[in-house]
Amino acid sequence: MAEDRLVSPQRQSGEAAAEPSLRPRRLDEYIGQERLKESLRIFLQAAQERGEALDHVLLYGPPGLGKTTLATVIANEMGVNLRVTSGPAIERPGDLAAILTNLRRGDILFIDEVHRLSRTVEEVLYPAMEDYALDIVIGKGPSARSIRLSLPRFTIIGATTRIALMTSPLRARFGVTYRLDFYDIEAMRTIARRSAAILGVAIDDGGVEEIARRARGTPRVANRLLKRVRDYAQVRADGCITGEVARQALDLLAVDELGLDEADRRVLRTLIAKFDGGPVGVETLAAALSEEADTVMDVYEPYLMQLGFIERTPRGRLATRRAYQHLGLPYPERDGPVQPELFSP
Ligand code: ADP
Repeated sequence: MAEDRLVSPQRQSGEAAAEPSLRPRRLDEYIGQERLKESLRIFLQAAQERGEALDHVLLYGPPGLGKTTLATVIANEMGVNLRVTSGPAIERPGDLAAILTNLRRGDILFIDEVHRLSRTVEEVLYPAMEDYALDIVIGKGPSARSIRLSLPRFTIIGATTRIALMTSPLRARFGVTYRLDFYDIEAMRTIARRSAAILGVAIDDGGVEEIARRARGTPRVANRLLKRVRDYAQVRADGCITGEVARQALDLLAVDELGLDEADRRVLRTLIAKFDGGPVGVETLAAALSEEADTVMDVYEPYLMQLGFIERTPRGRLATRRAYQHLGLPYPERDGPVQPELFSP
């Protein structure tokens, strides 16, 4: 299963409980994303000076980059309560009404996977976000009537990995939108060092470097690699994570020097061998991999595109020269011969 991979950016079972200790609480502890932080500081200070609730905020970007963390940080900086829910968890309009009527002035409601809200729930959300009002229908049939409840000024922070799947009326109701990017190597080093300090793990610069490089620009992956390498260091070495120890551990775990694992390589190999390097539609590619198209788009593609291994073209996905090179395969000039023998399942 894609979700069980060591380098999966998605939260795995058991991690939700362990994450809070590593999760930054204040903006100063939140590493990287400098442009976003600068703009956020101004936005927070302005709202605080006016004594107002924040405008609604939309956070988007691949999983594991710190959207939930940022929502927590914003609530802490504003000194308000945070309620956490998700698009699929709010099944009916009544569920949303119950949450909204329990909010107090200034509170933040974090809705993860906001693109997965149902249409009927979204319709309740529109007036709530815009006018702080809840329209409730009482009774049924011809005698039904609608009453309007007013809500305190609250803030919604929505998070999504797939902004394109959001309806435009919903998107339009967020006053501020921030995109989270993969972290650069410097930020990844700082994150690995910070997490090691919190976990009380001995690590030298070489160890930090190795983990930072193989963590796919994703803090969640860095934290997970760190924990696995710590186990290895404890059992096979003297407990200290050096460059050599980290390299051995990650090689053993089949995470290569770019942070790709066997599942990523299978995506590339399938694209190259079964589809001649593409272009191929994502649905077709997903079917050949026995994966959901959503998984391919959310989990595999963002990092492979970031590396410049896959391109999204109007005709479908294309493997680039760099992808062939990384797999050690000869790059065929386009229209060249198909090479089915390259494929190993
Ligand atoms: P998302 O909601 O985008 O999937 P999370 O906010 O749950 O991601 O982040 C996953 C983990 O990565 C967190 O538990 C936290 O420890 C770590 N993390 C995320 N962003 C940062 C950051 N900017 N600095 C340090 N650690 C971070």
